[in-house]
Amino acid sequence: MTAFLDPANPAGRPSWRKAGRDEGSRIVGRRGRQWDVRRVSRHVGQVWVPKAGWVQFRWSRAVPPGAKSYRVRMDRAGRWHVAFAAVPGPVPAPGTGAAVGIDRGVAMSAALSTGDLLHCPGLTGRERIRLRRLHRTLARAKRGSNRRGRVRHAIARLKARETDRRKDWAEKASTGIARRFDVIRVEDLQITNMTRSAKGTRGDPGRNVRAKAGLNRGILGSGRGLLVRRLEEKAPGRAEKVKPHFTSQRCSACGQVDRDSRESQAVFRCTACGFAGHADVNAAINIAAGHAVTARGGFRDAGPVNREPQLLTS
Ligand SMILES: [Zn+2]
Repeated sequence: MTAFLDPANPAGRPSWRKAGRDEGSRIVGRRGRQWDVRRVSRHVGQVWVPKAGWVQFRWSRAVPPGAKSYRVRMDRAGRWHVAFAAVPGPVPAPGTGAAVGIDRGVAMSAALSTGDLLHCPGLTGRERIRLRRLHRTLARAKRGSNRRGRVRHAIARLKARETDRRKDWAEKASTGIARRFDVIRVEDLQITNMTRSAKGTRGDPGRNVRAKAGLNRGILGSGRGLLVRRLEEKAPGRAEKVKPHFTSQRCSACGQVDRDSRESQAVFRCTACGFAGHADVNAAINIAAGHAVTARGGFRDAGPVNREPQLLTS
């Protein structure tokens, strides 16, 4: 409900639980009484699940000492996970006073004012072809058949691979940025507005609906929402939101604002001073110099306290 009521959050209305999609449960209590966890060997751990006993899992990282709950989950790809809840401390600032601006484009996932271009990985060309083929197979498979189940599972595994890559990228990129810079400035964008459907109503049908749907996929798929959310969480108080006006049309060298300076999607060439560069990097430099506006609804430090920390993906 909190995510739904937050206008900056693209999360929609809370939905009903569905079998096969939301499988899992959360176990709360004191470690050593209601539940326990122990390490068996270098890569193997065991967690005590009430009514089930010791369940083995792959020990991928240290269990946080203050964990008061854990969640066992099975995702759509059929993978089981166990996660011990703890709020990690913020990433320490380097203390150099360095500020960075981040422009989030559609073609490129993020451009830094330092000139770095970050690209959020997705599926490879071959994987996308395979996904399309699987979708066609699914459309022909009879409902409730074993074959349909197999195809659905294959699709879920491919999609999970894509999500895993995006999350991995967002986590690594946000930690890297939070470690390198004291002040991080991003555009104050409303992804909800940007990705609003162009469909329109029956009496007043929208234009370019397909094109907008494709653009929405690009915006949502570039992992930008997740990157910024993780930056705000990892560098609390150091992430600032900047008004996005004219950042893509303004020359970062002389300050001239001219829409014609945006030569193409990728190239910026100032009509006044002749400065030329990557359009997204130019915008990122403007953002780095920008003045912060108060973030709508503040940063995500307040929320329901009885919930474990949630990793929102969007
Ligand atoms: Zn200029």
